Order: sequence, then C-alpha cells, then structure tokens
Amino acid sequence: MKALVYTAPGVLQLQERPVPEPGPGDVRIQVRANGICGSDVQGYLGKTGRRIPPLVMGHEFSGQVDAVGARASRFKPGDRVIAYPALTCGRCPDCQSGLQHRCRYKTFLGAMSQDGSMAEFICLPEQLLLPLPAPVSYEVGALTEPLAVAWRAVCQAGDLAGKTVLIVGAGTIGLLALQAVRLKNPSLVLVSEISPARSELARRLGADDVVNPAQTSLPAWLAGHGADAGIDVSIEAVGLSRTAAQALDALKPGGTSVWIGNHQRQIECDMQRIVTRELTIRGTYIYSPAQFAQALGLLADGKIQTDPLISDRLCLAEGPEAFRFLASDPENHLKVMLLNP
Ligand SMILES: [Zn+2]
Ligand SMILES: [Zn+2]
Repeated sequence: MKALVYTAPGVLQLQERPVPEPGPGDVRIQVRANGICGSDVQGYLGKTGRRIPPLVMGHEFSGQVDAVGARASRFKPGDRVIAYPALTCGRCPDCQSGLQHRCRYKTFLGAMSQDGSMAEFICLPEQLLLPLPAPVSYEVGALTEPLAVAWRAVCQAGDLAGKTVLIVGAGTIGLLALQAVRLKNPSLVLVSEISPARSELARRLGADDVVNPAQTSLPAWLAGHGADAGIDVSIEAVGLSRTAAQALDALKPGGTSVWIGNHQRQIECDMQRIVTRELTIRGTYIYSPAQFAQALGLLADGKIQTDPLISDRLCLAEGPEAFRFLASDPENHLKVMLLNP
C-alpha cells in the first residue's frame, strides 16, 4: 500500500508499505479522507520534536472497514467509520474516569513514533471506532477530530450563555470554536485575526465582528462593542506570545482564557496582570472519547458549517506537494483534504 512517510525535516515521501494485518481485536480500515493538521505541518518542518522519522503522518481521518480480526465483533467490511486517534492504557485513573486524552501512557496516531492514517490502510482496536452516520461524508467525517479539539476548548470555558467571548485566531480550530461557541448562546462573539480572507470567513460563520489587532487597538475596539471593562471569556487558538497577550488583555477582571494554541513552547506574558486581575487560564488538549462522539453528533445534525473550511482537495499521492504549499503559503489555504477515492 502507499503511505505518506515523514523521513526528515521538510521531507515527505510516498512509500510502498505492506498492507497491515488486523490483530484479533482490531479492524482494518481502508482510509478514504485525511485532513492535514497545523501540527502536522509544524512537525514536518521539524519544529516541534513531536514527529520522529520515519513516521506515517495523519490523525484526522475517516474510512471504510476492510477486514476484521477474529475477536472483533462490532464492525463488518463496508462499514463507514472514524476513530478516536489516541491509543491509551485503559487502566490508569485518567482512563478509568473517561479522560483518556490525559493518559500518560498514550500514543497518538501520526505523532512521535506512532504511525498514523496517511496511508491506504490502517489497523486499530475496534473500541476506538465510531460508525460514520449516513449523512456525514468521508471528508466531513475527517473534520470530527479538529472539531473535537475546538469543542473541548469551548466546554472548558464553562457556561457561555449570555457571556461575551473573543476568539483569537481564525484558522480551522478558531473557526470551529467560533461555531461551537455560537451553539452555547453567548451575547457577543468577537474574533481577532490578521488575515483578511480568514476574517471574512469568521464573519460568514457567525462572528458579530472581527478585528485586525495589527491595525486597531483591541481595548478601544472592545469598548466600541460595549465591553469597555473587558470580555468574559477568550479562546486562544494560535499559540504565540502576542496572541496569548491579546487573549489576556481582552479579559475583564475575573475572566477566563482557554488556550488551545500550541505553536511556541515558551511565551512571555504579563504575570502581574494575571494576578492582580484574578484571571483564569485553562489549557486544553485533544478531547475525551465522549467529546469526540459529541463532535460527530454536531456534524451529523448539521450544526457546523464545514464546506467553507476545506480549501483544497487532493489525493494521497499529492501529499508531499500539499505539505510544501501549506508550509510556504499558509495564508491561502485552510483545511487540506487528502482523499483516497
Ligand atoms: Zn490535529
Ligand atoms: Zn491510561
């Protein structure tokens, strides 16, 4: 089978690999769609240390069951599926309490040394799989993973009914978080974004207003929206010092900032402002299996607009080219789908 293998920083190769055989409790999936994640592009550039070559990339995917192991009973060939992309121990206190994404023994598909889904086939334990409901296409199914990331972040922000919310960054995760926030009945949802194209998308997907913080002072702009004391909740979906600063500066005393962005390992922030204004910062990472299933439910119910998020559709063999253009020209692409027809 063909697989997209990260072999060295900046190098991705389409390689021939043996088709994997499912173990007794496993299911083999013929992969039909793979989304390319920002973390894949950063990893491919060798910036994060979280992709160790040689590695098959990919964790946002959907497919069709192709073969089942002797003890697997929940799925049969032909079933359309997606999978929770973390392999966890199942025994630690986090796994036992439904927070498998915190399992300290976990591996994640397409990260570190755990081969991922950018291949024609992948074998996984059947308990990780969820059936893909009929109205959800393979490419939309592959968006369950980034939506689950955004969904957890929004859930971590607490009750948003009647609250004012700022989302910093309108990339795929920010735009999904924006739509998820909308479902929680906030009084005002604002977005901070420097790219004109992404700002336009944020407006289309439900932002009450969008600011370019490189051109407009954030506090003055917030005051113009009746939030002169600051806003209740900010969601940071970039992960740089300056965007984290925006997420904190926008808050009213006692406000909460949820951080999803994970771009830069070390950032600078104004500790005094955090302390004296009693701000809360919550990190959020991946999602529980329950939240992954909830994200799929939102897609099946048509609650999330996905079409505007998919900027390019290519085939698996065009993966090396897709990574090259995502690395060199991120402005003009959003979610790139690699499809195996
Ligand atoms: Zn991802
Ligand atoms: Zn565990």
